[in-house]
Amino acid sequence: MFDADLIIVGAGPAGMAAAATAAGGGARVLLLDEQPEAGGQIYRNVGTSGESKPFLGKEYFAGRPLVDDLRATGITSEFSATVWRIEAGGRVVWSRDGASTVSTATHILLAGGAQERPTPFPGWTLPGVMPVGAAQILMKTAGLLPRNAVLAGSGPLLYLVAAQMIDAGMPPQALVETQTLAMMLRATRHLPRAISALPMLIKGLGLVRRVVAAGVPRYKGASGFEAVQTEDGSIAFSFQAKGREHCLVTPLLLTHQGIVPSTHISRACGVAHEWNTAQQALQPKTDPWGATNVSGIHIAGDGAGVGGAEAAQSAGRLAALDILHRLGRLSKAARDRSAASDRLARKRAMAIRPFLDAAYAPPPQILAPEGGTVVCRCEEVTAVEIRQALKAGANGPRQIKTATRAGMGPCQGRMCDLSVRGILASCGANPTAPRARTPIKPVKLGELAALAPHQETTS
Ligand SMILES: Cc1cc2nc3c(=O)[nH]c(=O)nc-3n(C[C@H](O)[C@H](O)[C@H](O)COP(=O)(O)OP(=O)(O)OC[C@H]3O[C@@H](n4cnc5c(N)ncnc54)[C@H](O)[C@@H]3O)c2cc1C
Repeated sequence: MFDADLIIVGAGPAGMAAAATAAGGGARVLLLDEQPEAGGQIYRNVGTSGESKPFLGKEYFAGRPLVDDLRATGITSEFSATVWRIEAGGRVVWSRDGASTVSTATHILLAGGAQERPTPFPGWTLPGVMPVGAAQILMKTAGLLPRNAVLAGSGPLLYLVAAQMIDAGMPPQALVETQTLAMMLRATRHLPRAISALPMLIKGLGLVRRVVAAGVPRYKGASGFEAVQTEDGSIAFSFQAKGREHCLVTPLLLTHQGIVPSTHISRACGVAHEWNTAQQALQPKTDPWGATNVSGIHIAGDGAGVGGAEAAQSAGRLAALDILHRLGRLSKAARDRSAASDRLARKRAMAIRPFLDAAYAPPPQILAPEGGTVVCRCEEVTAVEIRQALKAGANGPRQIKTATRAGMGPCQGRMCDLSVRGILASCGANPTAPRARTPIKPVKLGELAALAPHQETTS
């Protein structure tokens, strides 16, 4: 007997929408998320945020109904529940408070979302330098606001957080942007397609307008990032822009170079992946319903390809409809009928991606760092060590891991994996080997031992 018909990993827009749809169709759903509350990245903490953080905007508070829908009959939600392994036979192993549990279901939906791309450059590991998404997490959870921060890099989230900081009365000291006019011009060829995502384009332009209206200095086409710590613990951030050297001193440097699908869990359970050249990242291969090559496993939301919250919700509902059909609870005709509006919504939301990918592509020196820049933060492995391992014959992420320990630390390679692949690609090696190993999140030996089957004692 299975514990549920469907286990959903991730309570972001995709997972929450899928849970409501599946439970509405009569399925027993177990929803697991490692965070203490539902919401995912965009709606993090929205259930308890009250009206105390108006600077997060009405789009943030629009996530409340999704969270409320989780109270529906048929949904069991477990929070602070970290999934670290998925096994054949629909077995999902998750950990909470140092103890692991195995839950089973006939179907599994992975809705683990995206992660920020690593942004390695000299000094990126110093205290006082952090990803912009991490700062936003502190804004959403603790209401902490960065003072006099410098935002550096590229991508829509950089402008969103800048606008939220402005609305909160703590505008950034400056925006240092790596995209160039040439990139923007090249991206315009994708604009005709992006027009069907007009509201998103308008929203993006609105964010930039707010930054401009607030008088935040912008440095465009910036390169050559380097951060050093000053005597008083601030960060001296130097870079080149428009042929000039600049140095800004800030208590907090927030970096960003876009987001990419979080694929460790899907790779670890044998799902086929492909290399997304536009994003320079791996993404799982799915059919239009999110079904994968592994029987019983669907993927929805940003984890299947970055598309934003609306696309994620639609993808979650589409996957749930397909799973209801496979469970025998929905005819094929009813599934297809119910899917029509979400298919269209998802297509529209995804239409803007080629434009965004081209306009905000990360610069080569961030994708494939060089010299003494730390790549693997856990094991302190530098770019030059990885390049030396390549010269010595390593030809894939696994050999590099064996030769240098890059990816062997507590984050299990979630941070450095893309940079290692970027270096491989820049050296003409194949960056696409998909395999990842469990546990995908750190787990204690005692926890593993407690899970082992009990030995029969014979006298
Ligand atoms: C740092 C960050 C901040 C972002 N902020 C915004 C924003 O403010 N506005 C916006 O429009 N877009 C934002 N995005 C983009 C955002 O990810 C998508 O728009 C949308 O949230 C995707 O929805 P999703 O359901 O696919 O995934 P997510 O919303 O990312 O939800 C995934 C959920 O899965 C859970 N999870 C992942 N792995 C495991 C595991 N192993 N075990 C248990 N639970 C797991 C996570 O805790 C998370 O709650 C952000 C992205 C990132 C990376």
